[in-house]
Amino acid sequence: MGKVLIIGAGASGMTAAVTAARRGHKVTLVDCNDRVGKKILATGNGKCNFTNAIMSPDCFRSENPEIAGRILSGFGTKETLRFLGGLGIEPAVKNGYYYPASGQASSVVSVFEMELKHLGVSLMLGQKASDIKRTENGFSVTVGETTVGADSVILSCGSKAGISPQKAAGGYELAQKMGHSLTMMVPGLTGIRCRGNFRSEWSGVRTEGRITVRLQNGKRNPILATDVGELQLTDYGVSGIPAFQVSRFAAMALAGRKRVIVELDFFPHVSQKELEEMLSGRQKRMRYKSAEEMLIGLLPDKLIRVFRKQAGDSPQALAACMKSFVLEVAEVNPIHQAQVCAGGVRLTEIQEETMESRIIPGLYLTGEMLDAEGICGGYNLQWAWATGTLAGKSVLK
Ligand SMILES: Cc1cc2nc3c(=O)[nH]c(=O)nc-3n(C[C@H](O)[C@H](O)[C@H](O)COP(=O)(O)OP(=O)(O)OC[C@H]3O[C@@H](n4cnc5c(N)ncnc54)[C@H](O)[C@@H]3O)c2cc1C
Repeated sequence: MGKVLIIGAGASGMTAAVTAARRGHKVTLVDCNDRVGKKILATGNGKCNFTNAIMSPDCFRSENPEIAGRILSGFGTKETLRFLGGLGIEPAVKNGYYYPASGQASSVVSVFEMELKHLGVSLMLGQKASDIKRTENGFSVTVGETTVGADSVILSCGSKAGISPQKAAGGYELAQKMGHSLTMMVPGLTGIRCRGNFRSEWSGVRTEGRITVRLQNGKRNPILATDVGELQLTDYGVSGIPAFQVSRFAAMALAGRKRVIVELDFFPHVSQKELEEMLSGRQKRMRYKSAEEMLIGLLPDKLIRVFRKQAGDSPQALAACMKSFVLEVAEVNPIHQAQVCAGGVRLTEIQEETMESRIIPGLYLTGEMLDAEGICGGYNLQWAWATGTLAGKSVLK
């Protein structure tokens, strides 16, 4: 049994702490926040969508998705339910998305607080870990004004996503100090900001549609990602879950200095020909209506104005515009407005069976600071529970 220091008391760090302490280790958990699990409180709009009934490698993105897939293969939905159930969380499931039955993310934080206390985990809160050194027998970490020695260290520092820039601490520098390298990092699961002067006109519209991110290469504009669901049209561009799901592909391409467009299809379940026929049919049946009145009942008023301005009144031009409304992407929302960071510490530098660093024995890395992120639906917390458990189980074994 030995001394384990965990930097970051978020979802993955607390999971590692509980798991390591249950195996008899003396665990210290450090966080620069004055309480544990702060980000968990904001998850799932305060309800904490902690896992999903569908768990497949396709739900995760990384430069090395096969490694992420193998890490997750040993810890899926069932294991999460068992682990959180053991802490006291009863699940409630809605369309495959799991939440605590209480409907409160704060319950998840509370049960962790109780378990950490019960297991005798020492907390060092309100203190930032600013330096890490390898010593003869382990590690020496500067925490606030003190130096803490440990046989093993787990870095669970998360990312800067969703945190105001003044408050984000971060642990990438600590990982780099230990010799680790980072992939390209961009905001993930966030809104897409577009160029164009129509946006104030459609702001506030929520409508079913497909969003497709394409590279603008002057030839075939290849598809980078596509998703369908409720689009939220905003004064800066496009938001809502489908935009979130594809945003990292737009952000990565922009970071690679590529030009990117989004194409919106407001009638994803109807072909352009069928839509044209529908619009012509409405025109013929309702000749007494103006071109604008003819579209009422089919589309939100704000979109009617946008489409008519863009395409005029002919059914052919309107159908083409509704099926393929193209916008140039300027950028995605900044990291502090994103739900997750895409990219991080390279998975090839981690032993996938244990989460131990391949570079520094005795150092472990977990959670969002690694180069793997999930889509919307509880997958990022799943990654945190899975990697935290693996590290907690393996440390000082
Ligand atoms: C608004 C929002 C909603 C979300 N909703 C969901 C959802 O419903 N479902 C889902 O699966 N995921 C959701 N996510 C993503 C999910 O919350 C994260 O992926 C997950 O919490 C990451 O866990 P982690 O342990 O890796 O990092 P974190 O939970 O971020 O924890 C890292 C901790 O390390 C601390 N820290 C960092 N550096 C230092 C340092 N140098 N010294 C001391 N402390 C340090 C930080 O203060 C932080 O507390 C959401 C994210 C946001 C922002």
